[in-house]
Amino acid sequence: MNYVQLEKLGEGTYATVYKGRSRTTNEIVALKEIHLDAEEGTPSTAIREISLMKELKHVNIVRLYDVIHTETKLVLIFEYCEQDLKRYMDTHGDRGALDPMTVRSFMYQLLKGIAFCHENRVLHRDLKPQNLLINRKGELKLGDFGLARAFGVPVNTFSNEVVTLWYRAPDVLLGSRTYSTSIDIWSCGCIFAEMISGVPLFRGRDNQDQLLHIMRIIGTPDDRTLRKIAAESPEIQLKQYPRYPKIPFQQVLPKASPQAIDLLERLLQFDPSKRITAAEALSHSYFTGSSNNVSYLPTVAGAMAPPAYNFPNPHAHQQQQYQQQQQQQQQQQQAQQQQQAAYAQQAQAQAQANLYAMQQAQAQAQAAQAQPVVPPAYYQQTFHR
Ligand code: AMP
Repeated sequence: MNYVQLEKLGEGTYATVYKGRSRTTNEIVALKEIHLDAEEGTPSTAIREISLMKELKHVNIVRLYDVIHTETKLVLIFEYCEQDLKRYMDTHGDRGALDPMTVRSFMYQLLKGIAFCHENRVLHRDLKPQNLLINRKGELKLGDFGLARAFGVPVNTFSNEVVTLWYRAPDVLLGSRTYSTSIDIWSCGCIFAEMISGVPLFRGRDNQDQLLHIMRIIGTPDDRTLRKIAAESPEIQLKQYPRYPKIPFQQVLPKASPQAIDLLERLLQFDPSKRITAAEALSHSYFTGSSNNVSYLPTVAGAMAPPAYNFPNPHAHQQQQYQQQQQQQQQQQQAQQQQQAAYAQQAQAQAQANLYAMQQAQAQAQAAQAQPVVPPAYYQQTFHR
C-alpha cells in the first residue's frame, strides 16, 4: 500500500480508522479499514456506492481520495480531520454546549454539506456528532457519507454495541422504509439542539423508547397526522401511543434565540413531509437575520481555530472589503484637499492616515489569528484536488 499506517484513530460503525501518511506526498490521511465478511467478501453494491462517493466533492464533505480493495479488506483513504463534533463539544464546549456563534457556523456548514448531497440524490441516513468531522480550520465535514447507503443502516456495531437511535427520525422508528431527504433533516435538528444544550435531545434505549422520548417533547401527533404518515409509508404499523402535549422548545432550550427555536421547529417536524429542506433552512432568518450578526471575535478557547464560516452571505466579506476601499479613497481625497489648504493640516491628515493604516494592520493581524484561512466565498466552491 502506498500509505504508512500510523496510530488508530477510532472504531466506527463499519470500520477501524487509522491515521496514515502517503509515501509519495507525505500527506496525512485517514485510513478506514472496512471489516469484510471472510466468506461473502464485499458486496458489489457497496463498492459501486463507495466509488460514487469519490465524485461527491464539497468543502463540507470529507473527501474520499481513494479506495483500495484487496481480498481481505477494503481500505478507504480519506482527507484527515483532527476531531469529530462529539469530541469537539466535549473539549471546547461548556459542559458540551457550544457558544451561539460556533453553533451557527457548524449548523450552516452541516446544512451546506447536506444540501449538496441531497441535490446529488445522496442520503446520509446515519448523521450524528461522531460522524461530523472538524478540521483545524474550523471546517465541519460530513463523514461516513454513503456508507450507510452502501452497507445499510446498522443495528449493531462490530463491537456488538447497539448503534445509537438518538438521531433517527420518528417515521423511520415507526418502520418507514421509504427513506427520503427528510430523515437527514431530522438528524440535523437533533444535532442542532445538542450543540446548543450540550446533551442529546432524545435519548431512547430502543426503538419504542426512542419514539416515546420524541413524543414527550414534541407532543404525540394527532390521529390524522399519524394516519397520513402511515398512508404514505405502507410498511408502518401504527400502535396506540400515550397522548403527550408539546413542550415548547424555548422551555427545553432556554439559551436558544427565537430564530434558533424557529429553525429547530421546522427541522424537527414529526411529519416528514412538513420538515424544511436543507436548501430552505440555509435561507432561514437564523442565518440571514440582522440581529444575528456577530463579530469576528474568536470565542472558542484552545488550540483549535474558531469556525471560519460565520457569515452565510458569501458576499458579505467582499462588501466589507469594498466599503473599506471606498472609505480609504475618501480619506485620501480629504487628505489631498487638506494638503492644498495648509502644510500643517496635511501633516495632521498624514498622521491620521498612518494611525488608520496601523489599526487596519492590527485588525487584519487579529482577524488572521482568529480565522486563519479561507474567505467565505470559497465556501461555495467544491474541492478539486
Ligand atoms: P467512523 O467510522 O467514521 O465513525 O470513524 C470512527 C472514528 O474515527 C471517528 O469518530 C473519528 O474520531 C475517526 N475518524 C473517522 N474519519 C476520520 C477522518 N477522516 N479523519 C480523522 N479521524 C477520523
